[in-house]
Parts: sequence; structure tokens; C-alpha cells
Amino acid sequence: MKNDNCIFCKIASGEIPSVTLHEDEDFRVILDVGPASKGHALILPKDHYANIYELPEEMTAKAYVLAKKIAARLTDALNCDGFNILQNNGEPAGQTVFHFHIHLIPRYQNDNVGL
Ligand code: 5GP
Ligand code: ZN
Repeated sequence: MKNDNCIFCKIASGEIPSVTLHEDEDFRVILDVGPASKGHALILPKDHYANIYELPEEMTAKAYVLAKKIAARLTDALNCDGFNILQNNGEPAGQTVFHFHIHLIPRYQNDNVGL
């Protein structure tokens, strides 16, 4: 299901263009517009789920398997030294877009990224 007022629904469906690293039936992986580090990417399900609690179990499993694959690909491509794979639920936790997404944040020695 899509949500008409949701920017990530529009990006995931392709209605709004994005720099896409990967697309399949269920997900689109894009570059974050305000990257915490070089290569910061986001995994978006094509259907609208506000947070991890709304995401069905099967999709949760698929999303994290994909996260692992894309992180490995980015590590090869960028030669980064580490990786944060993280996900925010609710405003107090730092969520600003209420369409489930996983952050893939490449880390580099002494990069001073404050998470
Ligand atoms: P959150 O704070 O909800 O966990 O993460 C939202 C992320 O989405 C932020 O890192 C922000 O930079 C990114 N973002 C917000 N709007 C857009 C957009 O229109 N395009 C892209 N590519 N990233 C976005
Ligand atoms: Zn949405």
C-alpha cells in the first residue's frame, strides 16, 4: 500500500527520481540526500510501513538480508573501514521520515561521524 502524502512512497515507486543503487520487487536502495558519510544509502520498502513494528516479519527478514548485501557491495566499492546499519523508530529516536527505512552508513578511519 502507498501513502499519498509520503515522500519515500513516491521515491520508492519511482514517481520522484532518485540516485538508485538497487531495485527489486520489494525495495529500492537510494543515496541519502544529506549523507552522514560518503556512500550513505537508505533501503526503502516499496510499500508504506511507518516503522519496524508495522513491517511484516517476512519483509523485515528480506530488508536485513538486503542490508547485508548492499553493505558488502558498498564496502568493496568505497573501500570503507566499517559500517553502521541502523534504523530509527519514532521521533524521540531520531525518525524524521515516517516510512520505514534502514540507514547504510559507510565508516572511514577517524571520520568523526556523530551518530
Ligand atoms: P530518519 O531521520 O527518518 O531516520 O532518516 C531520514 C533520512 O532521509 C535522513 O538521513 C535524510 O537525509 C533523508 N532524506 C529525507 N528526505 C529525503 C529525500 O527526499 N531524498 C533522499 N534521498 N533522502 C532524504
Ligand atoms: Zn511511504
